[in-house]
Amino acid sequence: MTIHAISLLGSTGSIGRQTLEVSELLGIRISALAASRGSPLLEEQVRRFKPALVAVYDERAACDMRVRLADTPVRVVSGQEGLIQAAVIDDADAVVTAVVGTVGLKPTLAAAEKGKRIALANKETLVCAGEHVMQTAARCQAEIIPVDSEHSAIFQCLSGSKTFKKIILTASGGPFRGKSADALRHVTCREALSHPNWRMGPKITVDSATLMNKGLEYIEAMHLFGAAPDQLDIVVHPQSVIHSMVEFEDRSVLAQLSVPDMRLPIQYALTYPERRASLTAPLDLVAVASLTFEKPDTVVFPCLKLAMDTASKSGTACAVMNAANEAAVSLFLDGKISFYGIYECATSALDTIKNIENPSVDDIIKADQEARRYVFRLHP
Ligand code: MG
Repeated sequence: MTIHAISLLGSTGSIGRQTLEVSELLGIRISALAASRGSPLLEEQVRRFKPALVAVYDERAACDMRVRLADTPVRVVSGQEGLIQAAVIDDADAVVTAVVGTVGLKPTLAAAEKGKRIALANKETLVCAGEHVMQTAARCQAEIIPVDSEHSAIFQCLSGSKTFKKIILTASGGPFRGKSADALRHVTCREALSHPNWRMGPKITVDSATLMNKGLEYIEAMHLFGAAPDQLDIVVHPQSVIHSMVEFEDRSVLAQLSVPDMRLPIQYALTYPERRASLTAPLDLVAVASLTFEKPDTVVFPCLKLAMDTASKSGTACAVMNAANEAAVSLFLDGKISFYGIYECATSALDTIKNIENPSVDDIIKADQEARRYVFRLHP
């Protein structure tokens, strides 16, 4: 399938902005844009990329945007319904889901129902409702192409093969690699926000510091590739040059390498199965000089262990952990809890909130909201 036009959910975030750069390079039209709030950047994007529709999640911000864009033909919609309208807009062949959090779930399902290609950059969707999303996509023949760099690497290494022995997820280790638990007890959010290799939004950067991000990616990989927990290994690779690997039956291991640049997996999700010239700099292996690997430390980074243990639980457990983590990260960013407070919130929510087996999509959304409320009540 050649992608001529896309709908971009989460256009003002880091992935959203890079998606617009890539679309411009590839000559892909933007049919719809969506963002949580109205901002000067969103207005600028609308004027430049001329989508037919723009969804602003916040109702009041949508009204304001309607006034500001009154001189253009763009239609401004709002709320969850607006996000869904943007996801299913007729003109788009693919939807890039780059929103943060569970708000991406229903729009992703709606786009899958329409058989659109989903360039998936919203890992929370698969973490919370992996079975629903994968089943809907299979039933409606919607391709799901991962944008997360690790999963894009795995997807590229597999190149259509469904059989593999093992997936080896690589992790940079984040800004606190090699530190002791004592040293991490009092780190500030500014320290957590300085990632060594990747420039990303604040939520995912904190998740990379706690290694919860790798835990969420572990769950994401289980769903995307049908991997059992014992088929998934995590290895810390501080240079972030190998984006992940796949070991096959014969013990042959394939890896995908590049300089760390999210524009590459974004582009591949849009050009697949083709490859086109990209904005990414060439990989200079001599300059990189060495690629090293170590075991992740799940004692200093207990969020990783928590996510890996929760991965094998059914029901709403992963949704609860994910939502509690998201709420706890926002508390950490506001200076209300400590670094390890994030782990404590997630553990406490999992211990307290009842797990619902065989949940519907609405059960999952309810569990998500309950976990958020629970965490915010712990730290008013
Ligand atoms: Mg990643």
